[in-house]
Amino acid sequence: MSDLQGRVALVTGATRGIGLAVAVELAREGATVLMNHRGKPERAQEALARVRAIQPRARLLQADIADSAAIEDMFRSIRHDHGRLDAFVNNAGITQDGYALMMGEAKWRKVIDTNLTGAFLCTRAAARLMARRRTGAIVTVSSTSAVRPPVGQANYAAAKAGTVALTQALAKELGPYGVRVNCVVPGFIDTSMTRQIPSDRLAENLRHVPLGRIGRPQEVASAVRFLLSDAAAYVTGSSVVVDGGLIC
Ligand code: NAD
Repeated sequence: MSDLQGRVALVTGATRGIGLAVAVELAREGATVLMNHRGKPERAQEALARVRAIQPRARLLQADIADSAAIEDMFRSIRHDHGRLDAFVNNAGITQDGYALMMGEAKWRKVIDTNLTGAFLCTRAAARLMARRRTGAIVTVSSTSAVRPPVGQANYAAAKAGTVALTQALAKELGPYGVRVNCVVPGFIDTSMTRQIPSDRLAENLRHVPLGRIGRPQEVASAVRFLLSDAAAYVTGSSVVVDGGLIC
């Protein structure tokens, strides 16, 4: 039996891309998956149906993770309905690219608010639930942009680098409470996010990937599953790079 069997796991931005792949993976392991989404009820229902076909206890939790009040409401409902949280995946994220010299403050703040502040507020709320029971595991989805920032992604790269530092800082603070905190660092993964990149530019980027192809969302989900599982019981403060060798 999987050690995630019967555990309660929350995934943000869980209705497509990497988040949905993680939700599917955790459902296969027998976890009760709480699938956060921001809006788009039809897409959310479709994603829920896919995950429920594997694990019927899955449910949706609507909240904009750039909104602190919405985050508080979401965690209040988890505390009320489940009384615990065993695994948390900070996955929701956005890009709003542009050259820094021309980047307005709104674009900067939107990406920082979602990708970094949202990750902090969610992690803090998750950790409070976990620390009470002296057990839990948190994984944040960072990016290779954190360590190799591409031109036009100052906001995204800064936010994702922040999540790596946040992971390490929180691993130190939460270790004594039995809570592990890690991150995955994906390279180019085939999702809506990379489909926004013009195909010639994406092809040029993929030339620098030793494995010679774009990654699949399930390949990130496998790393997340490992970090959440008891197989990673002595792993905290780590970054697992899933990039086909891009930054090695
Ligand atoms: P995606 O755009 O398909 O998925 C992002 C998800 O986050 C969507 O479901 C979206 O609705 C949700 N989301 C965005 N803002 C939100 C908010 N304020 N509140 C709640 N949900 C919100 O892209 P993806 O590639 O699956 O991205 C998942 C994560 O992986 C992101 O953090 C992204 O930065 C990271 N990442 C992606 C790649 C890649 O190549 N695709 C590479 C490195 C890191």
